[in-house]
Amino acid sequence: MSCIISEVFGSEVFNDSVMQKRLSPEVYKALHSGQPMNMEIANAVAAAMKDWATEKGATHYTHWFQPLTGITAEKHDSFLSGSKGGKPILEFKGKELIKGESDASSFPSGGLRATFEARGYTAWDPTSYAFIKNGTLYIPTAFCSYSGEALDAKTPLLRSMEALNRSALRILKLFGSNAKRVIATCGPEQEYFLIDRDMYARRKDLIYTGRTLYGAKPPKGQELEDHYYGMLKRRVEAFMRDLDVELWKVGVMAKTEHNEAAPSQHELAPIFDTANIASDHNQITMELLRKVAHQHGFKCLLHEKPFEGINGSGKHDNWSLSTDDGINLFEPGKTPAENAQFLLFLVAVIKGVNEYQDLLRISVASAGNDHRLGANEAPPAIISMFLGDELSEILRSIVDRRTYEGKHVDIEIGVDVLPHFMKDTTDRNRTSPFAFTGNKFEFRSPGSSLSIAGPTTTLNTIVAQILDEFYDELKDKENFNEALDDLIRRTIIENEAILFNGDGYSAEWVEEAQRRGLHNLPTTPDALPHILDEKNVALFERHGVYSRAELESRYAINLENYCKVLKIESLTMVEMAKKDILPAVSTYVRKLAETVSCAKSIADVECGFETDMIRKLTGLSTNMYKKMLSLEELIETVPFGEGQDTADYYKNTIIPAMNKLRKVADEIETLVGEKYWPYPTYGRMLFAV
Ligand code: ADP
Ligand code: MG
Repeated sequence: MSCIISEVFGSEVFNDSVMQKRLSPEVYKALHSGQPMNMEIANAVAAAMKDWATEKGATHYTHWFQPLTGITAEKHDSFLSGSKGGKPILEFKGKELIKGESDASSFPSGGLRATFEARGYTAWDPTSYAFIKNGTLYIPTAFCSYSGEALDAKTPLLRSMEALNRSALRILKLFGSNAKRVIATCGPEQEYFLIDRDMYARRKDLIYTGRTLYGAKPPKGQELEDHYYGMLKRRVEAFMRDLDVELWKVGVMAKTEHNEAAPSQHELAPIFDTANIASDHNQITMELLRKVAHQHGFKCLLHEKPFEGINGSGKHDNWSLSTDDGINLFEPGKTPAENAQFLLFLVAVIKGVNEYQDLLRISVASAGNDHRLGANEAPPAIISMFLGDELSEILRSIVDRRTYEGKHVDIEIGVDVLPHFMKDTTDRNRTSPFAFTGNKFEFRSPGSSLSIAGPTTTLNTIVAQILDEFYDELKDKENFNEALDDLIRRTIIENEAILFNGDGYSAEWVEEAQRRGLHNLPTTPDALPHILDEKNVALFERHGVYSRAELESRYAINLENYCKVLKIESLTMVEMAKKDILPAVSTYVRKLAETVSCAKSIADVECGFETDMIRKLTGLSTNMYKKMLSLEELIETVPFGEGQDTADYYKNTIIPAMNKLRKVADEIETLVGEKYWPYPTYGRMLFAV
C-alpha cells in the first residue's frame, strides 16, 4: 500500500512535473527563463492548464489575490466560451492567464485609486503554482491599480525579494560566491483555536468580531499546562488528519500539528518555502483551517486574542536566506570564509532590526494584535533581538578582541572558524519578539490572522538596505579581511541596544528598553504614523518596494481598518449588554424574587442566598447599565472619518469604556445561574470539545 502522502501530495497542483509532462520543451524552457512572457507562450501554458484542470473535473478558473482587506479574493469564470452544434467550447487563453481585469472599487486602496478609475488588474505570479480547489483552477496573482501601484500584499513582497536578491548577491560576490540568486525563505507557524460550532453560533461577539467581548474566567485556565503538546482529543485528531490531506493536495507542506499552551489552542507548522510561496500557502492554510473545521463541527478562530486571560494566537514568521544552490546564509559555516560571511549577514540583520524597529512593529500592527503584544504571553510591543548566550558571548569576544572563554577560541574574522555552538544551545527564549534560532530567525510578533507578506516584505527590505551599506564600505578595500573585521565589530558595538536575552515579559524590560532608547509603540495608532517617517519612506523608495503614495495608502487603510474593527466591537458590546445580558440578569432576579415571595408566603424563612443575590445583582446591573450608557454616549461622539484622530479616540476613549463595561458584566456572569446566562461560558467553549 502506498503512503497517503505520496498519493495526494501536490495532486491538485499544476507543478513542475505536470508542466514537464504537459508543455513542449520550448514552452517549458521559455516559462522558466525568467524573461517576460510573450503571448504565444502564454497561450500554450494556458491551454495546457485548462486541459489538465478540466480533466481533473475543474469547471472554473479564478485569479486569486490578496487585496488589503487581509483575506484573499477571487472571481470565478467558467471555462465555457460558447457552444457549437449544442456542444460546449471550453477555452482559456493566455491573456486570461497572465492578466485579469477587476472592478477594484470595492477593495481598499487608501486613496490610491480615484473612483473614476475604478479598475485594477491582476497579474499572474508564475513562481507560485496554480492549483485546483473545489472544482476551480486558482491562479496566484498580484493586484495593481491601472497606474501600477500595488493594491495587494504580494506585489511589495515580490519587489522586496528582488531587492534582497540584488543586494545579497553583490555581497556574496565579495566572498567569491558563484550564487545566481538569493531567496528569502519562510516557514510560518500558525496558531489557532478550535471551538464547537454550535457554541460559536450562540455568541454574537464571536460572530461579529472573532473574539469574545465578555466572558468571566473559568475555574481552570492554562495554569496546569496540561494542554501544551498534550495528547490530541479524537475529534481534534480527526480534524488534523483531514486538514493535512487537504493541504497536501494543494501542495502545502504541512508538517507538524500539536496542541498549544491554551486549552483548545493548536498549532500547525509547514516546511519552509520561498517567501512568496510560503505566503500564498499560509493564506490557503487559513482558508482550509476554516473549511475543514466546519466539516468537523468546529469553528476555527484565527483572531489574535479570542479569549481574555489565556494565551492569544500568533504566527511565528521563521525567516532565512538561501542561495539557488541551496546554501542557507544563516547557517554558520565550516571554513573561516563561510563564517566571516555568516557573521556579516548576522550583523546586517542586527543592524537592520535596530535601525528599523519601528517598521517591524508597524508590520504587525492591528487592532487584534494589540491585545496580544505585551500581554505577558506574547512578545512585547518593544522590538528586541535574542541571540542566545553563546552567540552573544562570541559577539562580545569579537568586540573585546579577547579569547572566547566558552570554547577557548580567539576569533579572527576571515581567519578563524567559529566554535560550534549552534542549534542545541540556542535555547528558546519565548519572550523575545525576534530570535535567532540556530540557522534562521523567528519573528514572533505577527498575529495569527496576519498575512506574512507584510512583515516579510519589511524584513527583506531592511536587510537589503544594510547589505547595500556594507557593500559600499567593503567594495574596494584592499585588505578585505581587515575591513570586514572592522565593520563587523563596529556594527555589533553600534547596535548593541537591540540585543536582549532576558525576560521580555518583565516590567523591568520596559524600563530598560526605554533607557536604551528603543521604540515602545504599544498600540496600532501609536505605531502606524511612523510608516511615513522620512527614513522609512526613503528606505522603501530606494529599494522600489513601496512608493510614498503606496505607503500613504497603507497607512490610511490600516487606520481605517483599526477604526472599523473598534466600531464593530463597541457596537456589539452595547447590543449584547442591552439585548441579552441585562435582560438575562433581570429574568434571573425576577426568578429569585418569586422564590423569595413564594417561600415567605409558606413559612417564615430567611432566603439568604436569594435576597443577597437580588441585592448584589440589581446593584451590579445598575452599574453595568450606566457603563453601557456611557459607552453608547461616547460612541455618538466618535470623530468623523477613519483617520488618525478617530483611531486615537478609539484607543484613548472607547477602549477604556469598553473595558469598564466588560469588567462589571464579567462579575455579573459569576453570579447569575448558568442556565440563565445567554451565552456559552468560557469553561464550556474551551473545555467541552
Ligand atoms: P520549532 O521552532 O518548533 O523547533 P523548527 O525550528 O523545526 O521548529 O521550525 C519551525 C519553522 O521554521 C518550520 O516551519 C520550519 O520549516 C521553519 N524553518 C526551518 N528552517 C527554515 C529556514 N531556513 N528558513 C525559513 N524557515 C525555516
Ligand atoms: Mg518556533
